[in-house]
Amino acid sequence: MAKRVQGVRGMNDVLPAEGHRWAFFEDTVMQWVRSYGYQAIRMPILERTELFVRSIGEVTDIVEKEMYTFTDELNGEQLTMRPEGTASCVRAAVEHNLLYSGPQRLWYWGPMFRHERPQKGRYRQFHQVGVEALGFAGPDIDAEHIMMCARLWRALGLDGIRLELNSLGSADARAAYRSRLVAYLEQHAPELDDDARRRMHSNPLRVLDSKNPALQDVIAAAPRLADDLDEASASAFAALQGSLRAAGIPFSINPRLVRGLDYYNGTVFEWITDRLGAQGTVCAGGRYDGLIGQIGGNPAPACGFAMGIERLLALMAERGAGIPQPVPDVYLVRQGDAALPWGETVAEILRDAGLATVLHCGGGSFKSQMKKADASGARYAVIIGDDEAQARLVSVKPLRAGPEQAQAKVPPQAACELIKSR
Ligand code: ATP
Ligand code: MG
Repeated sequence: MAKRVQGVRGMNDVLPAEGHRWAFFEDTVMQWVRSYGYQAIRMPILERTELFVRSIGEVTDIVEKEMYTFTDELNGEQLTMRPEGTASCVRAAVEHNLLYSGPQRLWYWGPMFRHERPQKGRYRQFHQVGVEALGFAGPDIDAEHIMMCARLWRALGLDGIRLELNSLGSADARAAYRSRLVAYLEQHAPELDDDARRRMHSNPLRVLDSKNPALQDVIAAAPRLADDLDEASASAFAALQGSLRAAGIPFSINPRLVRGLDYYNGTVFEWITDRLGAQGTVCAGGRYDGLIGQIGGNPAPACGFAMGIERLLALMAERGAGIPQPVPDVYLVRQGDAALPWGETVAEILRDAGLATVLHCGGGSFKSQMKKADASGARYAVIIGDDEAQARLVSVKPLRAGPEQAQAKVPPQAACELIKSR
């Protein structure tokens, strides 16, 4: 036997036993975005590396060590498999002048790629749903986004996801804060790790985002950005909090919430669960008012968020959300030369009537076919032998326990009505 080719580490298959959970999630998301008037956008997986360097920022975990970047051998271009969706979405909107016709409410989903150490809730290919509102200054749209999230958690049957908020202020406010923070970090340099010491001058806010447990005390005692907040950011942040209180959405303010991407400013937020261990952030987002201008568009305010689908599905599984595996309505059993083509015709008639129908393929005795019908979970077997095929009729046998009787030799339309009436 030939040696098996293995999948790539950190890139998972979703097997059929899990497929219906993904389908339930995707159906729920589709209805949810429609109910808020968001339009779908799809971007390619490959982008020029420059896009992410310019938007996410050079001195960030993602750009420094997590991107799948390579040179296209055919034309020498530097390309990257997208690590997230916001930069691509904004690039597409700018490239196609979407904002020309007014502000845009957009959403997308798909695989993202980050070269991280694989562990529970952290993969190298993972999936996000992203929502972006381009051309909206807020804070009303920020409130919309958070209320959207709260509604989705309800629709997915999830509770206990807590909301943390912070404001990163304007670029000027952050510059003032930055010098206070650098002075503090310099004082504590011996307690920092290599990453933090290196970033202390190039990107000090990132130090606050460190996941190293040894740094958490230094981080907790660091000066707070809230004390340097500019007037506009402070009042937008207060207005958002007012909306959330009115909507009955609990939140807490986490002054150390800075997000791992450079493009954020003003309000940022994360939704966190304690039930998934260290990988507890299921959704994160905020304002990125500078990004559209930064990648060459006419400057316009914007905000958005992205959620990790694997983490949300893990949380749903942990909560015991029973999502029934879909079963066919009918398993069609057929034997004999004439039954083969008549079976195909009948299966299409059943599907025309809206009945999910699995057509038995591969022959075999009636007995073995009936076993497969049973194992399929179908509610009914539709049976075609020589007699049925010659008379252009079918027989119907209920497969689940109940008072229903089998029906011998009825026209396909009558079978449809019978099955649909149950
Ligand atoms: P983390 O702090 O867990 O590394 P992040 O801040 O890097 O997350 P974002 O870039 O904000 O994550 O992405 C939004 C969401 O996508 C995260 O909250 C998380 O749910 C999910 N996510 C991010 N990276 C991964 C990954 N490697 N595997 C699975 N899900 C991920
Ligand atoms: Mg990360």
